[in-house]
Amino acid sequence: QTAVADAPAPDKEYTFAIIKPDAVEAGHADAIFAKLAEAGFRVAAQNEMTLSREQAEAFYGEHKDKPFFENLVTFMTSGPIKVLVLSAPDAIKAWRELIGPTNTEIARADKPESLRALFGTDQTANALHGSDSSSSAMREINFFFDGWAYDNMPAETNFAVITPE
Ligand code: UDP
Repeated sequence: QTAVADAPAPDKEYTFAIIKPDAVEAGHADAIFAKLAEAGFRVAAQNEMTLSREQAEAFYGEHKDKPFFENLVTFMTSGPIKVLVLSAPDAIKAWRELIGPTNTEIARADKPESLRALFGTDQTANALHGSDSSSSAMREINFFFDGWAYDNMPAETNFAVITPE
């Protein structure tokens, strides 16, 4: 399968999100679902799970040489998460905007209305994940929802894209 990462902006786009263990544990999931709906996102698919160490290491593989990698994997496997496929116009960029800066302290200082400012804990436990590009969104959706993209993404989405060979 091949992906075209930079297709023209469509009316509807998909992104991948995680409600991380700190936010699930703190009971913030319902408030987060309310905020994302209010911001115009639709939940296209969701699942609740607890990541294995192998899954967390694979998902965050691009960070394996970073000093925070061990902390991140320990945190992400510490309890249940909710994995979501979200749709909206310009979903990838819009969701990154809504969640705000990676570090919760910076989010609280610079973007107090952002979801990480409202629901995060610190620079690791920051409540939410969001794909940073079209190619990441596709990889991440397929990582957690095997085959979902192939069955559900209409040709006019940014993943048009996913062309079975
Ligand atoms: N992270 C961390 N320490 C850092 C930077 C990142 O623990 O100094 C964690 C944090 O949970 C973040 C994740 O690693 O969300 C992935 O980092 P990335 O730089 O990709 O940030 P994101 O794209 O999630 O904002």
